[in-house]
Parts: sequence; structure tokens; C-alpha cells
Amino acid sequence: MHPESLMMSYGYKPEWSEGAVKCPIFQTSTFVFKSAQEGKEFFELAYGKRERNVGEQPGLIYSRLNNPDLQILEERLSLWDQAEECCVFESGMSAISTVFLEFLRPGDALLYSMPVYGGTDHFINKVLPEYGIKGIGFTENETEDELLAKAKGHQVKMVYVESPANPTNSLFDLELCSKVAKQLGDKESLAQLVVDNTYMGPLWQHPLQHGADLVVYSATKYIGGHSDLIAGAVLGNAKLMKRVRTLRTFLGNMAGPWTGWLLMRSLETLKVRMTQQAENARNVADFLKAHPKVEKVYFLGHLQEGDPQYEIFKKQLSCAGAMVSFDIKGGEREAFGFLDNLKLFKLAVSLGSTESLAQHPATMTHSDVSDADRKMLGISEKLVRLSIGVEHYEDLIADVSQALE
Ligand SMILES: *Cc1c(COP(=O)(O)O)cnc(C)c1O
Repeated sequence: MHPESLMMSYGYKPEWSEGAVKCPIFQTSTFVFKSAQEGKEFFELAYGKRERNVGEQPGLIYSRLNNPDLQILEERLSLWDQAEECCVFESGMSAISTVFLEFLRPGDALLYSMPVYGGTDHFINKVLPEYGIKGIGFTENETEDELLAKAKGHQVKMVYVESPANPTNSLFDLELCSKVAKQLGDKESLAQLVVDNTYMGPLWQHPLQHGADLVVYSATKYIGGHSDLIAGAVLGNAKLMKRVRTLRTFLGNMAGPWTGWLLMRSLETLKVRMTQQAENARNVADFLKAHPKVEKVYFLGHLQEGDPQYEIFKKQLSCAGAMVSFDIKGGEREAFGFLDNLKLFKLAVSLGSTESLAQHPATMTHSDVSDADRKMLGISEKLVRLSIGVEHYEDLIADVSQALE
């Protein structure tokens, strides 16, 4: 079956909970063992002292290790990316930072795509150096040889990619990045390719199918989808996920049962929400492209044959998504004038939610990026970023139209 057909029931049996059709919120810190022997066996498995027996499910011990609301959610999330395992975290940043801390050691380096999410950029450039780990950035047009040249002389243990990049929608070729990662690393292990799929996932791009070892999400965005929670997720094969899960257990940065329950509720409508958002985005982007006060629109649905970015798009993505950025004619004054005049769009950061949002990357989400990098990446004062929601597109266009006037 398709994932959307399974989001209402997969992994849950009503007889576990008095016949309740929905998985209840297991608001509990700890779980009762049937016997001391059972408790011993649960711990042996949880702490990796023995392999799992055929068909054996990990027993419930304590909600920092596992909880039905997280476990069932993780099984459902895994379906979209066809991943062996998933771990849900209390934020996208806790998912990303846990992956960095598990797979990088003092003396290592990581290659990362630019631009990345502001929090990720901060972690790479301000936090990891304190632990002796160096970040080396690269941009969308760099070739395999150029990436390998950048890695030379460093012990690169991870290639970290965000594609499409925020806020310009530039695409990175994941197969090329995977090829690069396979030529780096050391005797112990090859470099891991980690992909932040927040912008497209889990519906429109499946990085694990294009050579990624791990995929990370801010579940705050499309997966949560209602601007009412903060959460994150990591997915990948069982071997790597065992390491991620173990570090999560000891950092204690798992999501709680209430967040898990909310995310399960969100997943039931994920496909219909995202599908409508993408259709609305196409309409808004087309309107902007034809507007005399708009200089340039950054929308994946406008890429054309012959553009190398279009080749990556065709190979990697099944949809243009619902993020639209544009350069307004003028500068900060004109951009702010537009933002302050919006009525239906909310002036707020974040993305992927049911309501449409608008913001100014240069002074908001990307204000921490250096002037030189902003210039290189095309994040100028005239750039406005829109996240398109599920409203009627005619109302969204009417709002954009009156705000441009
Ligand atoms: C929001 C976001 C994050 C961080 O996630 P939080 O849930 O806010 O911690 C990471 N990557 C991308 C692409 C994001 O948009």
C-alpha cells in the first residue's frame, strides 16, 4: 500500500488500548515489567548486550528510551522514505546536532553545502570548532574534483547537504555528493552522506534512494505542518540508526509522548496538505513571475530544459514544492513595504505549515550569515521568501497583489 493509506493505523492495534481506534497518548515516564526476568531481557536488548531475536519487539522500559507514541510514529515515518529505522527528536536542531556529535570526532572535518539552515550553520561554524571539528563549505556548481580538492589534507568523515537550499531553492546533486563521500573517510569508515530533507520531505524527495546514508528533518515544518510544535527526525539503515538512537538515549533529547501523538495526527493529512500546498505555490509563483514589480522568482517549477539545475530536479524530485522566493524591484524598503502590507500571509519565519508565511531572509533567517556569504549566495535585501499554505490560491494571489501595489 501507499504510505498515505497506512498513516491512520500502521503499527497500532486497538486491543492494546481498550479498543480505542486511535493510539492514545501514553503520558507516562516508566513501564511495568511482568517479571524480573522480562525486565532483564528488555535491558539486554536496549543496551545492545545481545542481538534481537527473530520477531522480537523492543520492550517498553522508560520513556527516554522508548514510548508507544514515539515508536509507532517512527514506524510510520519510516514508510515515506523506505528507511529501516527512524528516531524522533525534540527539535530539528537536536536531530542534526546528535548526528554531528555521533559521527564526528576531534580532528575530523565535514564538507557542507552552502547555504544551510541558520541553526545548522551556527552549529558547524561556532560549536563544532570548539570540539576540534572543521567545516568546509561548498556551493551548488562545484564538481566532484573540486569537492575532492577541498577535502584534501583533511580527515573528512561527513558530507552534509541541504537541498533545495534555503532560501534560494538551489539544488545539489546527491549522487555526486554520495560519490564524493565514498572516496573520503578513513580505515574505520567511509564518510557518511547526511541530507537535510526538510524542504521536500518526506513526500517529494527521498535522499536514501539517491545515496544518502542518513536523512534528517525538522519535523516542525511539513511533517508537523500546523505551526504548533517543534520536533525533528533522523532516518537510515539499522546499523547507523542504532548509533543515533543510543546517543539520543544518553543526551535525552527525544520528543515526548504528546509531541509524538500530535505528529501522528499530522501524518494522516501529510499527503493532502503537501499536495494542495504545491498546487497553490505553482499558482502564486506564476502570478509573481508575470508581475511588473517582481524582478526574479526562485521556484523549482520554473526551471527549464538545458539548465543543469533542471537535470538535478528531474533526477531527484517528484514535485517543485511549496517554497517560493522572489526579488522585488528595489531593496529593503520595497521588501518591507510588501511584507507589512500582507493581510492573509503571516509575517513569520518557519515554513511548511497550513497557513502561508512570508519573511525577509537577509534581515531575519539569514541575518547571522556573513555579508560576503550572503552576497555570494544571492541573499540580497530585495529577496522575500514565501511558504505557501492550504488557503485558496485566489485569496493568496489577491493578498500578494494588493501588497505589491
Ligand atoms: C527549521 C529547520 C531546521 C531546524 O529545525 P527546528 O525544528 O527548528 O530545530 C533545520 N533545517 C531546516 C532546513 C529547517 O528549515
